[in-house]
Amino acid sequence: MPINKNASEKNEYADKDTINKIKKELLERKEQVLKDLTDISSKTDGNKDSEVKFPDFGDKTDENAQEIGEYSTNLATKTVLDSTLRDINGALERIEKGTYGICKYCKKRINKKRLLARQVASACVECKTKLQSRP
Ligand SMILES: [Zn+2]
Repeated sequence: MPINKNASEKNEYADKDTINKIKKELLERKEQVLKDLTDISSKTDGNKDSEVKFPDFGDKTDENAQEIGEYSTNLATKTVLDSTLRDINGALERIEKGTYGICKYCKKRINKKRLLARQVASACVECKTKLQSRP
């Protein structure tokens, strides 16, 4: 049997096993994100539209200031968690549809190393670089 000259080329892209591994990690991350969201939300149903809980430390001025401080930290955290959750869900959706690992701009396959480093990546390095270099 001749040596498969595409072997090294193939390794540059995520195969089924790699995608399964990524999917598992994404699901674990999603669970963690949902848990973190629940911790800072006033509702506990994991609803992404739920509001950030306003802490209650007391009625003194410094306590009120502390509450506001914690509240804004929670708001900022929620924004980050929400967008992480969106990215994870998007990636999981692409895995289900079989379009995971394909650049949304140029439709080329995304390098495996990039996917492993950034599992929710939906664009290849070339397209991402082009987008970022725009004024
Ligand atoms: Zn691309």
